[in-house]
This record gives sequence, C-alpha cells and structure tokens, in this order.
Amino acid sequence: MMPGRVSTTVPDRIAYARDLWPRGLITLSGGNPAPHQPDAVVWPVSTEEVQDIVRAAARTATPIVPFGAGSGVCGGTLPIKGGIVVDLKRMRAVVEVDAVAGAATVEAGIIGEHLEHELNRRGFTLGHFPSSIMCSTFGGWLAARSAGQFSTRYGKIEDMVRRVSFVDGRGELHSVDASGTPDITQWIVGSEGTLGIITRATVTVRPSPERQLYRGWSFPRVASGCEAIRRLLQRNLRPACVRLYDELDSFLHRGEKDHDEGVPESSGPEAMLEQYLSMLTPTGKSVIGEWKRRAIALALNRPELVNRVAGAVLPYAQKGCLLIVGFEGDKGLCEAEARAATVELERAGGRDLGEGPGLRWLKHRYAVSFRMQKVFDAGAFVDTMEVATSWDKLLDLYRAVREAVSPLAFIMAHFSHAYVDGCSIYFTFAARGANTADAERKYDAIWKAGLTAVTKAGATISHHHGVGLSKAPFMPEEHGAAMEIYRALKNVLDPSGIMNPGKMGL
Ligand SMILES: Cc1cc2nc3c(=O)[nH]c(=O)nc-3n(C[C@H](O)[C@H](O)[C@H](O)COP(=O)(O)OP(=O)(O)OC[C@H]3O[C@@H](n4cnc5c(N)ncnc54)[C@H](O)[C@@H]3O)c2cc1C
Repeated sequence: MMPGRVSTTVPDRIAYARDLWPRGLITLSGGNPAPHQPDAVVWPVSTEEVQDIVRAAARTATPIVPFGAGSGVCGGTLPIKGGIVVDLKRMRAVVEVDAVAGAATVEAGIIGEHLEHELNRRGFTLGHFPSSIMCSTFGGWLAARSAGQFSTRYGKIEDMVRRVSFVDGRGELHSVDASGTPDITQWIVGSEGTLGIITRATVTVRPSPERQLYRGWSFPRVASGCEAIRRLLQRNLRPACVRLYDELDSFLHRGEKDHDEGVPESSGPEAMLEQYLSMLTPTGKSVIGEWKRRAIALALNRPELVNRVAGAVLPYAQKGCLLIVGFEGDKGLCEAEARAATVELERAGGRDLGEGPGLRWLKHRYAVSFRMQKVFDAGAFVDTMEVATSWDKLLDLYRAVREAVSPLAFIMAHFSHAYVDGCSIYFTFAARGANTADAERKYDAIWKAGLTAVTKAGATISHHHGVGLSKAPFMPEEHGAAMEIYRALKNVLDPSGIMNPGKMGL
C-alpha cells in the first residue's frame, strides 16, 4: 500500500470504531468514544489491493471489517474483534453507463449522492434514494440490502443488481451474474461483509423521470389507509412513494405550515426530540406548539401512559392519518397512473389534500439525517425499527410491536415501501435513561421486546437497515435451520473466519 493509505494512528482508529448504531451513540454521549477499536485502517484504490489486504489478513487470521460510509444503524462496521477496517471510498469510479443495456457498472465506494448526480448528468437515475444518500455508499447499500424512498417503483437495491464482483475471505475475486441459475448475486447482496468485500456491481438504471406528481391524502384510520395502499399496489399501479403516517405521527404534525427559517436555540431533550420528530414528517417544520412539546416531555417520562392515551383517543379525536402518494416517470404514464390512483383512493375513503403535503415531503425528505445526534447529546435517545410482512399480517404486526414497545418507549410509525405482496412498517421510538447505563439497559429492552413481537408475528426483522450486531440474536429465530446453509457458505468463502466476525448471528 502507498504511504497515506494505511493508518494505525489513534484518531483514525477512534474514528473507525463507530457507525450510526444508536446504541453506540448512547455510549458515546456517556463519554466512551470507542469501546472497540480496529488495529489499522486501510484505503485501497483497486481490486488487486483489496485482494492483497485480504490474503495478508487470512495468513495471519486478522479480522477484516469492510467499511462504506459508516451510516449503518445496526453496528455492522464495529470492529468488535479488532483487525483491519477496509474503507472502500477511494474505489469510487462510475466505470461504465450503457444506455442500450440500461445498466451502470460502478465501484463500491462511491457516495450515493455522487453516483446519482453522475447518472443524472448522463440522463439516467438509479431510482435509489435512501434518506442517508449523502452519507452512504453504493457498496454499503448492496451489503445491507438497502431500500430507497422510491423502492415501490424502482425496487430495493437487490432488485436492481445484474452483476456483483467481490473478493472473498481467501482473497479470491469472483464476478457473479444475476441472469444465471441459481442467482448467486443474491447470496452476496445482504451479507454485510461476512462473506467478502464487494468491489463493484452492475445495476439497472432508468431514464430520468419527465414528470413527478405528489399529493397528500387523509384517511380516517391506519387500517383504511393500509387497505387503500394494498388496493393501489394489487391493481398494479406503481407509485414511486407511498407513506402512511399513523394517528400519533399525523397528530404531532397536523396543521403546520412549511417553514424554512432557522430553529430557535434550545437544547433540552424534549426540544431536540421534537425537532427530530418534526423532520420525519412532510411538513419539516421545526417549531411546534408548546402543549405538543409538553406531550413529548411527558412521553419521554411516562411512555406507557402517553402511548395508551394516544391509542385510545387519537383515532376519534383528530382528522385522520396522512398519506403521501407520488408518481413519477414518463409524463403520459405518470399522469394516467395518478388519475387511476385518485379514483382508487377516493373509493377507499380517502380525502384529497392536494399537492401541498406531497411537495413538502419531497422537499424535506433528507432533512432528518443530520438531526439525530442532537437528541442523544441532549440526554434522550431515538431509533427506528423497520420491519415488513405480507398484507394479511400487516396490521397484526403493527399492533403487536406497538403493544410490546409501548411500556418502554414513546412509539409512532409510518407505513412505507409498499409492494404487491406486502409492506414495511417504520417504527420510530424514543425514551430517556437516568444515566448512560440506564439508557443502554432501556434501549436493549426495547429492541428485545420489539423484535420478539416481530418474529412471533412471522414478519422479517429487517426490511432495509440490515442486521449487523443489533439484530444478530434474532437471526436463528427468523431463519431457523437455514442458518446452517449460511454457515456452510461462510466456511467455503471465508474458511479463516476473518470477514466481519461476530455479525449477522453467525
Ligand atoms: C439518518 C439515516 C437515514 C437512513 N436512511 C436509510 C434509508 O432510507 N434506507 C436504507 O436502506 N438505509 C438507511 N439508513 C441506513 C444506512 O444508510 C444503510 O444501511 C446503508 O446501506 C449503509 O451504507 P454505508 O455505505 O454507510 O455502509 P456502512 O455503514 O459502512 O456498512 C454497512 C454494512 O455493510 C458492510 N459493507 C460496507 N461496504 C461494503 C462492501 N463494499 N462490501 C462488503 N460489505 C460492505 C459493512 O461491513 C457493514 O456490515 C439510514 C441511516 C441513517 C443514519
């Protein structure tokens, strides 16, 4: 390796000892910056260098942790057994965009937003817009089976994959094609660095959309909103985005107008949480009424009470649940689909709120990414649990997770990433501990209660954030005997067990 592309300095080892797993942020706010540090960080520039690093590590049984941009929220990049962190960000070329094939070949380390800009410049889009697009990489998306905000139309990242190149735990390079039988690309996509390092991939790209149409709708209840989304999808309409906010989420932000002015200085956990929560919603407004702020303060101290009251009262006391529906693509098709959706949504009991809420959501859809840390600095914590299931089990899943988490944390949800066969639920929860140890204990209890409810409901524990460390204990519950197949694959591709050890329940 060239000088300057390998480091064993303390600042670098501390910087690479964390990702955005909220449990790590609790520990960090308590003053412990890096419980698990790597021994070294390397920045390869070529596949050959990646192979050399892995071969050297395999000879000495040194753990390797692939690193994209560290935006993962499950502890996937934490070097819990030390070793070498391999940061891919210097491998960031858009190698080829083939307009006829409708495909782009791209190196793993490119930041998502840079990739999208480069494709836009050539008249294409990947159609993959995670909220973290500015701070996550193409390789990280593939490794964690990421979903963009428009996955309903364009699919999740795994649906776009045509070819994947990766270096396994012996240093061997493989290029596997999605058109083959079986489709081996899908063994690697979602393996979170436990089977190898993804160096590049070829993915489907589409022409940039000619037209975008976004609107807000109101539905009397979560159940009627979900039913409307199911009908849209099963009628084969393909919105880019559908997001249904539950009663509590809709309530917290009802009646607010779009605001772009700065946020007044305030630093308590309630104020920070309020600002964070407000960014989750289409209004993006940073200042809410004093009495709502008090409700948030109460929710942090007495979550069970607030959740119970909200569950009992809100369905009757307010004007319904907000649904954002957006279409995009070819002008004619987009307008025709939007017209058909209007008929279907009205038939399902929806009230048209016009373009306003849809356009506000579009404008503020990335704003939340940079707010989370302040909630932790202020002494509270917040996290999200993104689970998914088929349409027949969706509402049972929603109720089961709410019931399990309600005694422990303030919880609300929205339904997004809808497909023909089912939908994801994105729970946001928040709580406060008396001190760091108490917050860590509460945090662990919330996840245990929530994911136990998820597996009991027969749903998946991860729609798009991956598994990493946080959900690893629930892998055997979800996959049962199939974990043996995963282990066997690991033994072949990574016989020394050096690839991201301790993750994914292996
Ligand atoms: C504010 C915020 C919003 C988010 N919104 C979304 C969202 O809308 N949709 C979504 O899907 N996710 C979202 N995430 C989660 C996160 O951005 C994704 O999990 C993303 O895919 C991680 O990309 P990364 O490059 O940062 O990967 P990292 O965090 O660096 O790594 C994630 C995992 O992948 C492995 N890995 C990374 N690169 C490679 C590689 N080249 N080869 C093999 N393994 C590799 C790592 O070892 C680790 O296990 C969000 C996160 C935050 C903080």
